[in-house]
This record gives sequence, structure tokens and C-alpha cells, in this order.
Amino acid sequence: MKLKNKIAIITGASRGIGKSTALLFAKEGARVAVNYHISDIEPNAEENAFSIVDEIKKIGSDAIAIGCDVSKENDVKEMVQKTIDAFGKIDILVNNAGVVFDVPLFEKTVEQWEQTLNVNLIGTFLCSKYASEQMLKNGNGKIINISSTNGINSFSPESADYDASKAGIINLTYNLAKELAPQIQVNSVAPGWVDTDMNKYLPKDFVDEEIKKIYLKRFAKPEEIAKAILFLASDDASYITGSILKVDGGYD
Ligand code: NAP
Repeated sequence: MKLKNKIAIITGASRGIGKSTALLFAKEGARVAVNYHISDIEPNAEENAFSIVDEIKKIGSDAIAIGCDVSKENDVKEMVQKTIDAFGKIDILVNNAGVVFDVPLFEKTVEQWEQTLNVNLIGTFLCSKYASEQMLKNGNGKIINISSTNGINSFSPESADYDASKAGIINLTYNLAKELAPQIQVNSVAPGWVDTDMNKYLPKDFVDEEIKKIYLKRFAKPEEIAKAILFLASDDASYITGSILKVDGGYD
């Protein structure tokens, strides 16, 4: 098992990539804090998170569900404290929570820009700040930030705010890797298109055109992104920090 005796916080773990990562980590021996956030987007988030906790217990590991809005500093402090109270330490943080609003420039609002930056970028900063404080007490830790190829070389004007937040996460990854070395390794997984709820409203014509541009001719499954996250969280990545791992099936 690659994560035996490790304690991991995974944000936005009630569905999608976060859920797949929570289940894979548990199979590899980690005990997991499954973060969820109740919003209009997903009113069943709490129920979903508790059913993931049950699934993890059936696998033979342990988990807790923690409600927390990653963009709220007090929520994040409480999430970190609840994880320490339950499991005594934090070894791994996966900053996965994210939102996107696909809206063209002249309809895009300041509120949408703020929410996107607050959840995706400030949330990554807050969780990294409070989790790394605990990791330093043990003298080691791993942080994996989920960015996107939209923060590197794949641009979509309707999600300019999202793309900026993901470019910001990549920059934050480089800075945190430098600041938290040598005790804590900080890396990022940058997925391309993934088959999750985030993309369920995309028009079929658009999806078909995008698939033509992907070398492997399909969207990723969330489990395939989870495997890349596991690699960076495990000892297999013992000499990697400040790196961005693109997982996009090849894309032009
Ligand atoms: P998803 O299915 O929409 O899941 C997003 C997760 O983020 C949900 O669990 C959601 O919680 C959580 N979340 C949203 N706002 C939050 C907040 N304020 N506090 C805590 N959690 C919050 O999307 P996904 O595809 O799995 O995305 C996971 C990550 O991968 C995101 O960072 C996304 O930007 C990134 N990514 C996705 C793709 C893709 O094509 N899908 C590509 C590149 C990168 P609720 O369930 O409670 O709403």
C-alpha cells in the first residue's frame, strides 16, 4: 500500500475527481478527511460525503466528513483542527475544490469572478497555510494542487476568470514549493478535460469538437486523474517538488 498510516485532507471530495481520489487513497491505506460544501450547485453534498465515508470504512480504512467552504478562513481552520482531533496529524493535502462559470465577457459579473478566485485560488492558499502549519510539526508533508491545462496553454474565453485562477494556482505551487522546502513537497496536477459534473452542461457539438483535438480521443475518467494525484502524494515522488503534471491525453 502506497499511503499506509498517512492522513489526507481532500477538498471538494463529495464528487468528481475529489471523490475518486478519496476512494483511491483509502484503498492505498490512507485515512481521509472528506471535505464537502453545501451550496445551490449540489444540495446533496453532505449526504454524498457521508456515503463516501461509509464506502471508505467498507474498504477497511477510516474517514470523516467535514463541511467547510474553503474560501472562508474560519471554516478552513476548523477543518484542519477537526482532522487533527480525529487522526492526530496531517500528511497530505489535496486542494481539489473548484468552481467554474462558463459565461461570455459581457455577461460575466464581478460576483462570478470573485467566487471563482475565492474558491479556487484563495481556498488553495488558505488550506495550504493551515495544513502546512500542522505538517511542519511532523517535519514532512505533501500538498497537491489541482490546477488545469486552462492555466497553462488551453484557453476558453467564457471561463477567463477560471483560467486566471488556475494560472494563479500554478504560480502559488511554485512559490509554496520554495517556501515550504525541504520539509513539504508541493506539486500540481493539471488535468485537461475530465468526465465529471463540471462539464455536464457543455453542448454535445462542443464536446465532439474538443474530443477531436485530444490525441487519445476521449475525456479522462476521474479515476485517471486520481492516479496522478496518488503518484505525487506517495513516496514514488520523493524527489519531486514545484512540478506541474499535465494529465490531458495530449491536446492541440
Ligand atoms: P465537480 O464534480 O464539479 O466537483 C467540484 C468539487 O468542488 C465538488 O465536490 C464541490 O463541492 C467542491 N466545491 C465547490 N465549491 C467549494 C467550496 N467553496 N468549498 C469546498 N468545496 C467546494 O468538478 P471536478 O471536475 O471533480 O473538479 C475537481 C477539480 O478539478 C476542480 O478544481 C476543477 O477545477 C479541476 N479540473 C477539472 C477539470 C474537468 O474537466 N472536470 C479539468 C481541469 C481541472 P459540492 O459537491 O459540495 O458542490
